[in-house]
Amino acid sequence: MTAPSRRALLVAAAAGACGLRPPSRAEAGPLRNLVWVVNRKNEELAIQYRHNDGGYDHAALVRLQYLFRDTVENVLGPLPPRLIEILSILQESWGFDKPIRLTSGYRTPRTNALIGEAASPRSLHLEGQAADIAMDGVAPLDMALAAHSVSLRLGMMGIGLYGSFVHVDIGAMARWTRIGR
Ligand SMILES: [Zn+2]
Repeated sequence: MTAPSRRALLVAAAAGACGLRPPSRAEAGPLRNLVWVVNRKNEELAIQYRHNDGGYDHAALVRLQYLFRDTVENVLGPLPPRLIEILSILQESWGFDKPIRLTSGYRTPRTNALIGEAASPRSLHLEGQAADIAMDGVAPLDMALAAHSVSLRLGMMGIGLYGSFVHVDIGAMARWTRIGR
């Protein structure tokens, strides 16, 4: 993909204006409370993170927290359930037929600094509030559009469109694009 930034913004704006949605099921919050994630160590987890009565499954969240750790330094960080909710809603858009590839979850300050110019020193990855994600067979632009639709519904979320992945976080609404990487 070359120079996605302007096009992405225009498409995102158009999608918002027309109420376009990614394929099905992104209507009213997570329906199945499932998430299926594989991290950079190829550790994979498909799990229900919420009980049917609505309460969080803390054992499931602990397992997810391990998957979302800083895999460079092997350090656990916080994992707000809200981030998992967002990923679950996104994944629902594609019917849970493939895992979310997590390229970066929690980052220690040292790992974040190693990433260099691409990573803000105030990155929400440092708080465990962000995930860089991709899905096989799904263009990052399409994933960013799906995230955009979710974000409009929730009134929150930072979304960054990169060359090979999408950054999502549970901060305030924000949009950006980076060419490359
Ligand atoms: Zn990120």
